Amino acid sequence: MADIDVDLFVIGGGSGGVRAARIAAGYGANVMVAEEYRMGGTCVIRGCVPKKLMVYASHVRRELDDAAGFGWTIPEATFDWATLIANKDKEIARLEAAYTFNVEKSGARIVKTRAVFEDANTLRLGTGERVNAKHVLIATGGTPNHGDPFPGIEHVISSNEVFHLRELPKRIVIQGGGYIALEFACIFAGLGSDVTVIYRGDNILRGFDEDVRRHVRKEMEKSGITVLTGCIVTKIDKHGETFTTHLSSGASIASDQVMFAVGRHPNVKGLGLEKAGVAINPVNGGIAVDGFSQTNVPHIYAVGDITHRINLTPVAIREGHAFADSVFGKRPTRVDHDDIPTAVFTQPEVGTVGLTEAQALARYTHVDIYKTDFRSLKATVSGSESRIMMKLVVDASTDRVLGCHIVGPEAGELIQIVGIAVKMKATKADFDATMAVHPTGAEELVTMRAPTARHVRQAAE
Ligand code: NDP
Repeated sequence: MADIDVDLFVIGGGSGGVRAARIAAGYGANVMVAEEYRMGGTCVIRGCVPKKLMVYASHVRRELDDAAGFGWTIPEATFDWATLIANKDKEIARLEAAYTFNVEKSGARIVKTRAVFEDANTLRLGTGERVNAKHVLIATGGTPNHGDPFPGIEHVISSNEVFHLRELPKRIVIQGGGYIALEFACIFAGLGSDVTVIYRGDNILRGFDEDVRRHVRKEMEKSGITVLTGCIVTKIDKHGETFTTHLSSGASIASDQVMFAVGRHPNVKGLGLEKAGVAINPVNGGIAVDGFSQTNVPHIYAVGDITHRINLTPVAIREGHAFADSVFGKRPTRVDHDDIPTAVFTQPEVGTVGLTEAQALARYTHVDIYKTDFRSLKATVSGSESRIMMKLVVDASTDRVLGCHIVGPEAGELIQIVGIAVKMKATKADFDATMAVHPTGAEELVTMRAPTARHVRQAAE
């Protein structure tokens, strides 16, 4: 006999789990949430939120650099890493408390312990108690993965440790060419570190539009970041407090820290999934689910990074909400995973929604491209060499805007708004009919008159 009975047992107190617990409790379900670490999960505790605070900190350098052209004389600025970390930690603790408060306010109960399946309906808690659950939601997220072992891999830090370094590294080597590697490369460069990015392919941000990839790399290099492509880290030697990183190209680099951001694994291990009979998706290693986030065991669901579909916080939240609506609100709800806007908080930022040029060419026969690359008005006086890139990918047969890609200041903010238009299936004519806001950078989105490229392909027989 189990000690406790619940309608819903949620494993993981991150974005997806918390949303599902609160909504299900709101529908009257008896809900228990198990979290072994801190409420809030990756995004709040060691992901999006602390990262964005560090992005703000590192932006200050650009503002200071831009100031002179506008007449400001600012004595040499100094930066204190310990103050940033302490203030960031304070905000994260506040958010963690807010997450806990809101879950408890909804009527759900939090247990601060690890929970594992004993069978498909029974969870065993770290306290030894057993819980009998009518439904289970697995929302245990993901964890950094360092790839294949090599000599010295134990010296590598991940995005888990980077938020707690005792001091700002003077020199840092970062392996990876995706979101986390590039965001931290720009954070550290802005804070004054000497940064080298190591990427195995021919250019960073694989999967993004080619113009975005080229533009971001160029801008990062302009800001002093070294980007080495076509190589990987093969060995790391430690000498006291410093490291020598050896590359497959034969080169070696001295640094004070070596960070890897080469992807994240779904946290499937040690949950007792085999005892519950829950199947893993053989393609991506996450828990296999259908469009309603239901696993092969009908009363067990999974949302967020554990499913390794689209690993973004707002997606996990939508999936958690849709699960609760479907199962406890009697409103079957599928999450629409199309046209999800996303930002990479590099400096300058990337904002992107919809199809890349290459994806559009593969799916549509007539594709028009509108692209612009310019210096902002601000840069003309500040003297900054930074350039903005904006691009619209249009289905020339229907005039529908299939994709929008921006590299420039506040691209994350801009793409949230453009995302609405793209989701509403706006046409290029709709963009053109919208009056410009002058003088802004964003006005270029509604003033690009002539295509910069037109692609026509015969439809497949
Ligand atoms: P990504 O998948 O974005 O990038 C991983 C990078 O590591 C790629 O460049 C990949 O290369 C490279 N890589 C993979 N395996 C190896 C290896 N064995 N050796 C060398 N390089 C390797 O993962 P991240 O860790 O950066 O981030 C994880 C996810 O978290 C993101 O995909 C995103 O979904 C989410 N995230 C979102 C953020 C946001 O919304 N702003 C911010 C941070 C994370 P290749 O391209 O060749 O495969």
